[in-house]
Amino acid sequence: MKASARIVMVAGLLLVVGWLAGRFPPLALASRLAYLDAAIAAGAPIARRAWSELRFKVVGIDLLVTLAAIGAICIGEFWEAAVVTFLFVFGAYLEARTITRTRDAVQKLIRLAPRTAHVRRSPGGEPGVEHGGEPVEMEIPAAEVRVGEIVVVRPGELIPVDGLVLAGRASVNTASVTGESVPVEVAPGSNVYSGALNEEGFLEIAAEKVGEDTTFERIVRLVEDAQEEKVPVQRFLEKFAQYYTPGVIALAAGTYLFTRDLRMVLTLLVIACPGALVMAAPVAVVAGIGTAAAQGVLIKGGEHLERVGKVTALALDKTGTLTRGELKVVRTAGWGRGPEEVLRTAAQVEWGSEHPIARAVLAAAAGLPASPEQNDVDSNDSKAGLADFKAVPGQGAIARIGEVTILVGNQQLFAKQGLTIPPEVMVHIEAEESLGRTVMLVGQQARVQDRVQGWVVGAISAADVVRPEASFLASGLAKVGVKSLVMLTGDNPRAARQVAEQAGITTIRAQLLPEDKVEAIKEIRRRGEVVAMVGDGLNDAPALASADVSIAMGAAGTDVAVESADIALMSDRLDRIPFAIGLGKATMRVIKQNTVLAVIVVAVLIASALTGKLALASGMLVHEASVMAVILNSMRLLRYPHPDAEEIPASRDLLQVQIPMRNLQP
Ligand code: ADP
Ligand code: MG
Repeated sequence: MKASARIVMVAGLLLVVGWLAGRFPPLALASRLAYLDAAIAAGAPIARRAWSELRFKVVGIDLLVTLAAIGAICIGEFWEAAVVTFLFVFGAYLEARTITRTRDAVQKLIRLAPRTAHVRRSPGGEPGVEHGGEPVEMEIPAAEVRVGEIVVVRPGELIPVDGLVLAGRASVNTASVTGESVPVEVAPGSNVYSGALNEEGFLEIAAEKVGEDTTFERIVRLVEDAQEEKVPVQRFLEKFAQYYTPGVIALAAGTYLFTRDLRMVLTLLVIACPGALVMAAPVAVVAGIGTAAAQGVLIKGGEHLERVGKVTALALDKTGTLTRGELKVVRTAGWGRGPEEVLRTAAQVEWGSEHPIARAVLAAAAGLPASPEQNDVDSNDSKAGLADFKAVPGQGAIARIGEVTILVGNQQLFAKQGLTIPPEVMVHIEAEESLGRTVMLVGQQARVQDRVQGWVVGAISAADVVRPEASFLASGLAKVGVKSLVMLTGDNPRAARQVAEQAGITTIRAQLLPEDKVEAIKEIRRRGEVVAMVGDGLNDAPALASADVSIAMGAAGTDVAVESADIALMSDRLDRIPFAIGLGKATMRVIKQNTVLAVIVVAVLIASALTGKLALASGMLVHEASVMAVILNSMRLLRYPHPDAEEIPASRDLLQVQIPMRNLQP
């Protein structure tokens, strides 16, 4: 960068000197020498690059410029040689500078990276090991924090590690990671991420991931890699340039044979360079991916940006995607035993599961008073005796405790296991489901006199909160041309309908197993739609993989889903989906405009060169101007409008009343 700026300066100065000297006839020789020097100063690096390209059998734009400059010198046109090489290096310099600006979105992120951390450490000692007295607070580089150490973050400071809040409350701004500018409240037990700003409050955090392993660093790396990746049109354009350049040389040779006009040939060589054509896609892609990243939308490559712009149908998972996935147990019923016991029994099985439903059951059970005859479910003892745990995807979980087998799950799970659901339980299920709740049945099976018998012992209802921006999804998608919307859920149709209504989704496919979700996606694709699937990776990872574009919820989603999806929504905000689709479309539009502009400019220039109406230097000027036009046009994507936080109304709660555990009917 520095070197290229110096070359531009030196060559430019020599050009001016040459021009001034040229005004006085006695100095004509000096003027020509100055031009020659300028041509050499600016041309040498071009020639060097042309040479190294040639060794890899690449015939590129550098070679054309070098040939033109040498040709101009041979026919004694030193001025033209100087101007052509100068314009070329000056153009390249401007391009590089502008492209750096397009990468700004990522640069901004990098500048936001926390540099130092305050840790509690015993002087000279290992973390956690008492070594010569009380641990003291010290400031160290953020990357040198050790996993497990306690980091202290004060108001106005950046959180330097990914970790768990041990003490303190604060409101933190995670905009740099998620693009979400509304601060979130954190308290002991919350996860916090590196790069987030502690707006107010004092936090003590146990470091879990430091330095390069933090989510923040992973995002930066991901976006940088993504910007290097090519869109298919770009590959096409590059292949095109490969044949085009030799074609231009052939055209030039042919022209020489016909006209013997060396000047026209040189002009042709220079102006026919596909510079703007080669630039048409990459700058737009860099700008598009950068703009998305600033909104917490990680698009993992130009290819995905192109494909998301073509989406015509959207499939969404329910739990964790349309809803927050923060289920709460709102009601427990028992048959033949008390609700508390039902919860405890269910919690013993759900220990093994990572489904949001399981977490709700565990949380509810942990809130129960300790029971006299049973081990506290909150203690590790509850895992003792748990055997043959089996998660049944999309249906529930089964485990053996001592002699009995416990089932927790939906009606399908019970049907499969041969348990009948008594009429009074069915009545209860239907009533709860029409409130939009998810009902988990709890049952047990045991061997009674050589026969396996099973029965329902209870039902746990959980409610989730629909994401507030879900109500804007359908209209937002319609604006970007996506009219086909479908919900794919493993949950019951009644709860599904409640959520779907709030999101303006009319097509619902409920009670689907993970493989049914895959089949549903394939069906949509068979209709000729380009389908994007949005999910959290729990029971929908196969469906995500079979869609044209997979979009993972960043925070609610599993790590695997976030890593393997084409697009990750770091803020979990659904309004970023129409944004990403619109941005994909806009990027492709810009690439098309760029391509058309580049082709027209080259065609006009070639035509005027062949009719002998174009000078070498002005041809170069127009050519460079078209490259700059393409770059500036691409930079418009940096201002692509994004959804505003203010447009989203306060959360509409599905969780109407919290029914206290103790008042439940038996
Ligand atoms: P969604 O498609 O809405 O994200 P899932 O496919 O993850 O839902 O789950 C579908 C249904 O399977 C749940 O509504 C629940 O009835 C049942 N289920 C899944 N996992 C569990 C579990 N660990 N415990 C109890 N029920 C479960
Ligand atoms: Mg889900």
